[in-house]
Amino acid sequence: MKIGCHISVAKGFYKAAKRAHELGADAFQVFTKNPRGLRPKKLNRADAEKGKQYCGEQGITLVCHTPYITNLSTPKPDLHEVTIRSIKEDLAIADAYGAAGAVVHCGKHVGEGEEYGRRRMVETLNLILDEYEGNTKLLLENTAGQGSELGLSIRELVEIREAVNKPEKVGFCFDTCHAFAAGIWTEETFTDLVDEMEETKYLENLVAIHFNDSKAPWGSRKDRHEKIGKGEIGAQALSLFLREPRFKRLPVVLETPVEDEQEYAEEIRYLHELKG
Ligand SMILES: [Zn+2]
Ligand SMILES: [Zn+2]
Repeated sequence: MKIGCHISVAKGFYKAAKRAHELGADAFQVFTKNPRGLRPKKLNRADAEKGKQYCGEQGITLVCHTPYITNLSTPKPDLHEVTIRSIKEDLAIADAYGAAGAVVHCGKHVGEGEEYGRRRMVETLNLILDEYEGNTKLLLENTAGQGSELGLSIRELVEIREAVNKPEKVGFCFDTCHAFAAGIWTEETFTDLVDEMEETKYLENLVAIHFNDSKAPWGSRKDRHEKIGKGEIGAQALSLFLREPRFKRLPVVLETPVEDEQEYAEEIRYLHELKG
């Protein structure tokens, strides 16, 4: 199991990869571009190549995250068009970095209803992946279920993946905080959750784990990350993920709140301790 954290890519991808290594991470995540904006980004090919090579040499696994403000289920034609253009670009950047996957949030139906939302999400995914030939998979992340967010349950995510034209280009990213807030697991039901992942074939398409404690209580449907062991989930329940043999091949990435990235060095050490 590779363990790491989210890292700023402000100083370039190669520097971010070196930073990950300095912090003791053998997995890390970067945004493909400014998470709050959708401005097109010009890829620095030399930097991407250098960073990719460095990750290869150090045995570091990379996951990318796409900006938050796209909506795969939007009924609005303008946002729909921007979402497609932006995520296509994110996939190209993530692929140039050699990322295992590019995480995208599930759609929000914004009042149009869940059935519409799922249908529109599949339609948008098809338009994004239509001509995509890269190796990096687009990873659907489970949501906390805030507002009209889709994709809370394992079964729903599997159904969406199976409905797209190119399911082989789609994988999953499991967020421990979102799943807890969505009410789909507790310490007591952890094994049932992993069994469900296995039975539905979610597990074989799972590419990364986002490892976060939760400020908000179980079933609250609120997405509020917390440091490991300081939140409502607790270190004991979270350590089950680190010790689960079926998750052994996966990168585990912290997205916990920090004032300074340096704090992740200690949290990564703590995760190795919890793993035992
Ligand atoms: Zn996440
Ligand atoms: Zn979150």
